Amino acid sequence: MAGLLAARVLADHVDQVVLVERDVLPAAAEHRRGLPQGRQFHALLARGRAVVEDLIPGYSEELRTAGGVRLRLPTDVIVLGPAGWMDRRARGWEAVSATRPLIEAVVRRRVLELPVVTLLEGHEVTSLTAARDGRSVTGVTVRRVDDGGTTDLDADLVVDAAGRGSRAPAWLAGLGYPAPAREQVDPKLAYAARLFQVPAGFSADWTAVMLTSAPPTVARFGYLFPVEGDQWMVSLMGAGGQHPPTDEAGWTAFVRSLRPPVIAECIASAEPTSPIRGHHGTTNRRWRFDRMPDWPERFLVVGDAVTAFNPVYGQGMTMAAIAAETLGACLRAHRGTHRPGDLDGLAVRFQRALARVEAPAWTLSTSEDLRYPTTTGMPAGRGQRVRHWYQDRVGSAATVDPVVADVYARVLGMLDPPSALLRPRVLAGALRARTGAGPAAPPPPRPAVRTTPR
Ligand SMILES: Cc1cc2nc3c(=O)[nH]c(=O)nc-3n(C[C@H](O)[C@H](O)[C@H](O)COP(=O)(O)OP(=O)(O)OC[C@H]3O[C@@H](n4cnc5c(N)ncnc54)[C@H](O)[C@@H]3O)c2cc1C
Repeated sequence: MAGLLAARVLADHVDQVVLVERDVLPAAAEHRRGLPQGRQFHALLARGRAVVEDLIPGYSEELRTAGGVRLRLPTDVIVLGPAGWMDRRARGWEAVSATRPLIEAVVRRRVLELPVVTLLEGHEVTSLTAARDGRSVTGVTVRRVDDGGTTDLDADLVVDAAGRGSRAPAWLAGLGYPAPAREQVDPKLAYAARLFQVPAGFSADWTAVMLTSAPPTVARFGYLFPVEGDQWMVSLMGAGGQHPPTDEAGWTAFVRSLRPPVIAECIASAEPTSPIRGHHGTTNRRWRFDRMPDWPERFLVVGDAVTAFNPVYGQGMTMAAIAAETLGACLRAHRGTHRPGDLDGLAVRFQRALARVEAPAWTLSTSEDLRYPTTTGMPAGRGQRVRHWYQDRVGSAATVDPVVADVYARVLGMLDPPSALLRPRVLAGALRARTGAGPAAPPPPRPAVRTTPR
């Protein structure tokens, strides 16, 4: 996603973009080897959808036509948080729910339609090529996956979007640069997902279910979301080492252990349409490329290759979209002050700008994960404890106050910055809120009218 969206932005500025991809890409929305996380639940948050829609007009409608399911959060989604069910009267935001392969296939098809974009599939980037003094990247070496043959590709700008497995730090070391600092916060979380056919005649006043975690006490959680093909994607997650099993009996016992048992009840009579698929590798990890004392010209790193988030907050694809948006802004600003073809300074400025826009998402994700005593990587300091206390107050208010629930949903959807939670109306709601109805209470019914029109 980061590579596709960066290519989309670059297409407005350059004569040719070559997308190098190790996989031979499927024509349809199918799973592929280079995207092991693709079998797990993926939600594109509101902000990410807005950026993608801006870059690829008609994206949401195309996704919906291909089977994606339109829903509003929280109106159509029953969300159980630590303090109770989220108030469904909030306006919140709209999403189109689909599997990751379908979300990506729609973006890929549109990006590959651009006349300046070409795809070099079945090729793996093995290293960077650079000027003799290592100060400027001049291209990449690629290896054909089928016969191992290698070729050098020259480029004015190289963008690494190779995901969590990116070798950028090693490549930089090969050019003589010092090792970048690495920050990690590991909540020891794993996923296990399975698809089900929605039973004929099923009806409920909600479209999706989110039984979220309540750290540090509740480390097991689960989501049920509609996806294309009239299916439900049921995603089970466990932090602190309480991983959902991937065998039939263990997975079923895990889903039954979630309170209330709404997901277990839904799937009791539903036909599975996939095996159970597990996934580890969810640590929050960011490379501080922005703090390197020295950085080569003409080399950029985007997406998970820079910052990979614990995925339960759904930030990864949205941050990939924001990285593309940031790249566009940097390219436009650079054009205003430099001669055509002069890219000096662009790379450093981009990595610093990217670190700035990623910081709130990093804080949200790591701060929540630090509630688990089993999380490793960083101690939860004094500031974190105050933040946790206030977030709990906001979470409580969001169960009974649609205005607070609306702002809360918008912050989670990355439409508003976390500072929106400090607005006077939210502050007042948070300070007077009592804890809402817990899992023992039924979820609130779908409201006939929303009380927070915009
Ligand atoms: C379990 C799980 C659940 C997730 N859920 C969500 C969610 O709900 N919402 C959300 O927004 N995000 C989610 N994410 C995160 C999301 O998958 C990523 O953040 C997002 O895909 C952006 O990653 P990327 O484009 O940087 O890398 P990737 O999507 O990993 O893509 C990297 C690409 O580079 C290719 N590649 C790798 N190395 C090379 C090489 N040397 N040469 C050529 N090609 C190469 C790979 O084949 C692949 O196509 C989840 C992640 C996980 C692990």
